[in-house]
Parts: sequence; structure tokens; C-alpha cells
Amino acid sequence: MQKIMKQLTIFLILTITLQRSVAQNAFRNFREASEIRYSANQPVINYLLKVDTNDLSSFWVEMQIKNIPDTFQLAMVAHPEYDDRYWRFVRDFTVTGKNGNGRIVRRDSALWRITTSGNQALVKYRIQFQPSSSFRGAWRPFLNSRGILFGGPHSFMYVLGHTLAPSHVTLQLPSNWKITTGLSQTADPNTYFAPTVFALVDAPILAGVMKGWSFLVDGTPHTVVYLPIENSVPFDETLFVSNIEKFVRQAAALFGRLPYREYFFQIQDGAYGGLEHSNSVTLGAQSSHLSKDMTEFMGELAHEYFHTWNLVRIHPIEYGDVGYKEQQLSKGLWFSEGLTMFYADLLSRRADLPVEDSTRIAHLERLIRRYYSSPGNHKVSPEKVSVAAYGPEGMLGDYSGSSHLQGEILANIFDLIIRDATNSRRSMDDVMRKLMERFSGERGFTSHDIEKILREVSGKDFHQFFEDHIRGNKELDFNKYLSLIGMKMDLSWADVTNNEGAPVPDFRSYAFQNENESILRFGTTSPESIWAKAGLHTGDELKSVNDTALKTEEAFWGMIRRLKIGDKVVIEVIKDSGPKKIPVTIAGYKAAVVKISQLPVINERQEILRRAWLNPA
Ligand SMILES: [Zn+2]
Repeated sequence: MQKIMKQLTIFLILTITLQRSVAQNAFRNFREASEIRYSANQPVINYLLKVDTNDLSSFWVEMQIKNIPDTFQLAMVAHPEYDDRYWRFVRDFTVTGKNGNGRIVRRDSALWRITTSGNQALVKYRIQFQPSSSFRGAWRPFLNSRGILFGGPHSFMYVLGHTLAPSHVTLQLPSNWKITTGLSQTADPNTYFAPTVFALVDAPILAGVMKGWSFLVDGTPHTVVYLPIENSVPFDETLFVSNIEKFVRQAAALFGRLPYREYFFQIQDGAYGGLEHSNSVTLGAQSSHLSKDMTEFMGELAHEYFHTWNLVRIHPIEYGDVGYKEQQLSKGLWFSEGLTMFYADLLSRRADLPVEDSTRIAHLERLIRRYYSSPGNHKVSPEKVSVAAYGPEGMLGDYSGSSHLQGEILANIFDLIIRDATNSRRSMDDVMRKLMERFSGERGFTSHDIEKILREVSGKDFHQFFEDHIRGNKELDFNKYLSLIGMKMDLSWADVTNNEGAPVPDFRSYAFQNENESILRFGTTSPESIWAKAGLHTGDELKSVNDTALKTEEAFWGMIRRLKIGDKVVIEVIKDSGPKKIPVTIAGYKAAVVKISQLPVINERQEILRRAWLNPA
């Protein structure tokens, strides 16, 4: 099926290319005739990525650049969230110009000045793979005898100042490897096209001896590939692919159309996590899990795939074009992550896919429990928590919060308010559609844009709500919003216990190291922890535990995890006022217990809204 499609695509491209060249000639003749002077100053770039399976430690990149000044700069892109800084692993970097070898001078960590000759350059370098544990992040490059993941910010250099320059990428790989990438195909099956640097680095390349399936939704092709490991176990592949297709159909139904020409699910055994792109996603999925239960994987897939709309296209204002410097932290992640959490759950329910919580009520109970159990979630504003998500460790002091969680809770509340204000004629779905209409281009959103669209959809003014609960840190009054659907919430506190019902020690502490620092620092995730109450605070320089000096984050955790309730431990830290030995007695701690139930008396309107909310079509 896929092969036939590919041949068809090649045929179409050839036809289009022929037609285009006729048109181009006509255009050129017209220009010559009217004597327009035309000087193109954009570099013309062809990349060649070469893999030799006799050497699994690295791959080669060749960059053929034409139409380039004899002095220019090359850079590597920094990812705003997952910056793996692969400029550290560039090896055997050379440049050759028309008259022989050029010069390379490093200007910054991910920036080089190149001197060449004859307005052309052949740049060559190797990227050294990093030894990874058997379990790796699904977006991190690797190479083994069965396949490779590369491309993206981990592979390509680009000409500084020319992020709009198109390029071609040719792959030299073992002939029996199948290739999947979101890059555009060309007439040559081993050569791909990227219209911009953004598109170039937003489409990782997964190749190898893979399983593959495809399906169409609204005429749009979707390819699913699975790269096995040595001891992959069999799982129900038909169910696996049909689950994915069901979710895609729900997302297409929500927005009314799919925003890409073709989509690729690049799924890998022996890896975890995932990373979203414009028309592809890298995802880890262990076959040993898939063979037993697909719920967890589908949750992850639903989240990453929904990012195709919310985060990749509808993105916060801080996320702009690619750059080599550290990218700006975003205040809008609560929306990009939280609404994605909300829709991963909601669309899975609409598609009748397996989900973690049996009902929406059970799901909301779990969210609210987490909201209260970690004080950062209700004491720090979602905008601040968003900024801290990829900011330096310990940025929120003794607090720790999740913008994913805050945003998902806010999505539920927005949805309740809109449904109430419009007699369920409208919902959060209408907000997402409007956002997609207005923000799917270059422009990013601010919290004021979201606020405005919420008002348009619901007729309600959300300004004070945003001042209080998004830009501000005012705690949410859940009962106010639950009452709209005739429900209420009861909050109580109980000891955190293990499976046998015994209290669990308060281990809400950690050690961390700042970049460019050699010292170890202490951190706690709650000002109510035994650690904070004893006088230890996030950022204190950590010297020793029970007089044993500490060198690593793991060493701290290794000592702490052995402690039992009632044990005493002395932590030595250096504060601004000087060194201090602080005794801590290990104790248990409490977490929130949340129960949502129906109000004793409800009217017909609440009942109708409740039913609509519980089973949202
Ligand atoms: Zn996400």
C-alpha cells in the first residue's frame, strides 16, 4: 500500500516539475526581455547525511553551500524545550572552498565563523553519538545495526541570518532501511526538501528495519512505523494502529480539517517520551507494555499528537523562529500543555479509547487532588509555573508546580463557564477552533488573546479571572464552577501511605547542580515539608548529610531514601549567613483527598448541563 503510494507521489512530482520548468523558462525570458537586474543572495544548500554501519559511533554530515560570501557564520539550532546541545559532539569539522581549505573559528558554543573562497563551501563534520542507557528519550539520536534516529537540531548546521533558505537533504543509508520523516519527498526517494531552517530541524528522520502501516483520514495519508529492539515482544498491531486512527479522526472532527499534507508517527521500542513536530512525532513505546495494555501509550500519543495543533501551530508568543541562542522561556505553557492534556483525555473518551480514569468526574478528582497536594499548583500563578518549566532548577524556591496540571484544570473550568453561559451550545471546542483560525501562522498568542477569544465564545468577561488565576496566584474556588453542573467538591487531608497502609516518610527534598557551578544545592518541593520547616530552603549550598560529604545529586538521594519515620538526620548547608548544621526528624506527611458529588438539590438546567459535560459529544 505504502509503496504504491510512494510511486504515485513520484509520478506526480515529476509531472509537476516538468510543468513548473516550462513556466520558469517563460518567466526567465520575460525577465531578460524587460532587463530586470536580479541578484539572488540566498545561499543554496545541499546536505548529505551518511551512515556507515561498520562504525555505529557517529554519522557524517556534508553541507554543500553555493552562492555564499567568502566569510559567513554557521550555527546549530537551540530547541526551546529539549535543548540537547549537540554542538558539543561535533567532530572532524572542516571546510573547503574553491581554492582549497578554508578556516573555522568558533565564536560561541553553537556558532562558528567560516572563511572560504569562490563563493562556495563544502563543510564536513561528524556527529558523535552519546552512549545512552538502554532506555532513552524517544527524541534523542541513536544508531544501531537495525536503525537510526537523526536529523533535527541534533544534526544540522545552518547559515546564520538565512533561516528562510530552502535546502535539500540526501540520505546515504543501508539499502534495506525504510525511511520516515516529515521532510517533503522529492523525485529521488533518498532526497528530501525543507523550505526553511525551521522545517528542516522540525522533522527528525527515523530509518531502519521497521514495521509500517498507513491509513487515510479525510484523504490525508498517515504513516505509522514501529522500530523494534532485539527482544521486542509481539503485540496486537491491528488494535495499535486502529487506536491511533480513532484518535486522529476525533482531532480532525474537532478542528474540521487536518492541518498537514501527510503525517508520520515515528514509534520506537526501548524508548520513552515523545516530541511533537509539524507533521510528525517521535514516540517511545515498549512492546512489553503494548502487549499487556495500551492505555498509557495511547495517553502519551494523544498528548503529543494534539500538540500538532496546540503548541506547534497555536503557540505562545515567545516561541518564534529558530535561533542558536538559548530560547526565551514562555508564560503560555499552561495553555499549550494544559489544554493538550485536556484534549488528550477528552478526545480519547469521544473515540472510546482506553483512559486512566473511569469517568470525567474521577479524572477531575485526581487533578484537584494534585492541585492541593503540591502547594506550588495553587500558590504560584500558572504564568510563573510555565516560565519555570524549562527555567533553571529551583526557580520557584520551595515550591514546585505543574503547568500541565494547572492548565488542564483551567481548561475544565473554562469549559464549564462557557457551557453554562451558552446553554451548552458552545464549549472549549469553539475556543480551540477560533485560536486555530487566528494563530496557526507565525503569530503567537498572549494570555490576553486567550481571554479575548473566551469572551467572544461565551459572552462573559474573563479579564478578572485571568488577573486572579492566570497572571495572578489566587486559589481556584472549585465549588463555584462545579455548582454550574449541580456538583460539589469535598476536600480533606490524609496521611500519605504505601500499599500496606503504612505512612510514607516525607522525602520532598532533592539535590541539584546549576549549570556552570560545581557545588551541590539543596531543594524542597513544598514549604510545608519537614525539610523546609526545619530551616532548609531551595538554593542552600549542600555540604554533607550526617557528616558525609556529598558530591552528586544521586549520592544525596541515596542517603535520604534509606531513612525511616522517626530517624534523625543532620544536613549541613551554607547559607548567606554562613555554614549551618540543621537536624531534621523524619516524619510522614499529608496529601489532599478530593471527593466530587452531586449537590442535594439541583435544578433541571444544572442536570442538563451536567449530562452534556459528562458525555461531551
Ligand atoms: Zn506536552
